[in-house]
Amino acid sequence: MFWADRIAKEIQEKRADTIQSGKKLLIRDEKTLSGRVHIGSMRGFAIHGLTAEVLSEYGIQNEFRWEHNDFDPFDTIPGYLDETTFKEHLGKPLYLVPSPEPGFKNYAEYFAAEFVAVHKKFGITPEYYWAYADLYAAGKMDDCIRIALTRADDVRRILKEVSGSVKDEAWLPISVVCENCKKIMTTRAYDFDGETVGYTCDKGPDGTVPCGHEGRIAPWKGAAKLFWKVDWAAKWVVQGVDVEGAGKDHSTKGGSRDVAKHIAKELYGIEPPFDIPYEFFLVGGKKMSSSKGKGSSAKDMSDLFPAELLRLILLGKDINQQIDVDPAGDSVPRMYDWYDDLAQKVRDGVADDFTRLYALCQMPENQAEESAPWQMRFSLLAFIVQMPHLNLAKEAEDVKGSALTDDEKAALIERAEYARFWLSTYAPDQFKYELQDGEIEANSLTAEQKQALALLAQYLEAGERTGEELHARLHELKTEVPIDAKELFGALYKVFLNRTSGPKAGWFLSSLPREYAIERLKQASI
Ligand SMILES: [Zn+2]
Repeated sequence: MFWADRIAKEIQEKRADTIQSGKKLLIRDEKTLSGRVHIGSMRGFAIHGLTAEVLSEYGIQNEFRWEHNDFDPFDTIPGYLDETTFKEHLGKPLYLVPSPEPGFKNYAEYFAAEFVAVHKKFGITPEYYWAYADLYAAGKMDDCIRIALTRADDVRRILKEVSGSVKDEAWLPISVVCENCKKIMTTRAYDFDGETVGYTCDKGPDGTVPCGHEGRIAPWKGAAKLFWKVDWAAKWVVQGVDVEGAGKDHSTKGGSRDVAKHIAKELYGIEPPFDIPYEFFLVGGKKMSSSKGKGSSAKDMSDLFPAELLRLILLGKDINQQIDVDPAGDSVPRMYDWYDDLAQKVRDGVADDFTRLYALCQMPENQAEESAPWQMRFSLLAFIVQMPHLNLAKEAEDVKGSALTDDEKAALIERAEYARFWLSTYAPDQFKYELQDGEIEANSLTAEQKQALALLAQYLEAGERTGEELHARLHELKTEVPIDAKELFGALYKVFLNRTSGPKAGWFLSSLPREYAIERLKQASI
């Protein structure tokens, strides 16, 4: 069974009472907007989004709510931002840090906009809300804050029992926003008297500079934020969350999810949401924390693929399997091949998990369609767009063996654009080709290679040849000369592409302008 069906069925069973009661199932996830969002964060979005989609398909009412977390602290300056400009803001909540570009209210809004554009391309639009304005400043977290402060000793005990983390007796599970310097990472709160807490601004973790202010404050309506593992559970309470997964880094025994579950049960007396623990999305074999370069952001990755491929990459693997995409390796053509293999099964009339996946890769409004347009393989297409003498549409018809439908034409044009973009950005040299017309290096070919090329020139001069004919002739030459296959094909790629490998030789030779091919073969065989 496809993973999203398995999970939707489990939810249907485990949350039967809630569904029966008529309450809409609430599916929630969030992302802290600490900078450009990594593609790894799209996995949670995709899993929650598809779960919502499949539940709707089953007739189960639900809502997918996405939190832009703008109340977490700004704790590191990403490498692509100017350190001197942003240094003074270290330690402030993200909503109080200025936007790197004009036109946005703050830092969090700026990075949220880029992430939301990827969500749109992916084809799922959740209900968005902001952690600061919609939860904290709106006063919705206040009851949970009061309980956590009143029962701070229970919070400390749970932390110690579940995760082994020991907090001193004065510690309170909140961080106050300093009224003087507006920082949240630099303060310590103590002495809750039922309405206010005392605090000092005197901590300086990770390069933050405390101002030394001391005071008392009522920690309500956004003046303070709950300690994050308590904050997580409180968000479940406040919103009535039924389903919320988390990456496997949070899902270990004694990890943050485990703590939040205990807080939810013991402190707030609620059942924690249905969990969906999921594996990492790696970029070139590296985890989110260590892959921050070009190509690793959600935006960069989404620029490389049309929507249905983006959906396949994020949805195609079971939640317990890693995803690994390397834009600078051969995984881009492999992803397209994976998609085309699914499409072929649809055209063959198969109905299984693979064709189910193909349907789910389409935008929600197109999922009922049972057809799958033919597409040219990405690596061949990427080769053709680099050959100025070739007409893509004509070559596509030849490969398909019949005229293209309108859908197929549109898909071809779109895929060609993505291929050109990839070639100009991340593609490794092995996928880059340039038709040669300069001097052929003397002594670069053996006597057998020259002989084979001369015979091939004669064969072409004698008449128009198809790819199949040339393919057959090349195989004859192996015994006629004799020459081994590697030497023979190596000579062709060397002469025409100055490379050691290339596309299928028979097809490639037939695709070249005839006069040019004959001339070049003759020149090489001297
Ligand atoms: Zn301060």
